[in-house]
Amino acid sequence: MTGDIERIIREKIVKLGLKDTELVHFGSIAKLPTQHGEFDIIGFLSLRDMKDHTIIIRGNPIGKENVPMRIHSECLTGDAFTSLRCDCREQLEFAMDYLAKERYGILIYLRQEGRGIGLFNKLKTYTLQEMGYDTNEANELLGFNKDERSYLVAIDALKALKIQSVKLMTNNPKKVAGLCEAGIDVTDRIPVAIKPNVYNVKYLSTKSDDGHLMGSGDLYCQDESEEGTEE
Ligand SMILES: [Zn+2]
Repeated sequence: MTGDIERIIREKIVKLGLKDTELVHFGSIAKLPTQHGEFDIIGFLSLRDMKDHTIIIRGNPIGKENVPMRIHSECLTGDAFTSLRCDCREQLEFAMDYLAKERYGILIYLRQEGRGIGLFNKLKTYTLQEMGYDTNEANELLGFNKDERSYLVAIDALKALKIQSVKLMTNNPKKVAGLCEAGIDVTDRIPVAIKPNVYNVKYLSTKSDDGHLMGSGDLYCQDESEEGTEE
């Protein structure tokens, strides 16, 4: 029976046009009806960090250009428990609503809780924030960088999905720069509009100080040759 399931999953993965790579092992695929719309969910093991991550896809984005995409880092408190301390759940829901209206698109959900410092440490930063420190200071007091996230696993996944250009849903210029550096062309940015609340206003203002765009504004890969004299 287990053999049958494995065979069926393999067939579905192949039919979609996916192939394992050196760093990405596709392990499961299933339909995912949600409150936002209908998607498929793909589970993969990253051989880079040995964690299981997920990709939610709308339609078939494999090998497509200008794919609407969000890279979302896990936030148990926000995504699952509806915490108002951050804006993660709102961003996740924005992305799923957006993708549900598109013909194809993807959301890569990375297992890097609390800006990559892990759940327990994130909860410790909440205590520090209650003492008056901001998100960055709290991370640094615990001995971490203010942001320990990496997008290499997402880039591995994009390459496995043969996606070379994306319209990225983000307010974070560093995410755009990271993808551009890795050779994924960000052709457009889809701003993620979040309304501040009384609990996350300080968190959002720290993000803004860190360069996150809180409104519209273009972000895309700048082709260096465009600035030169060459055509
Ligand atoms: Zn969060």
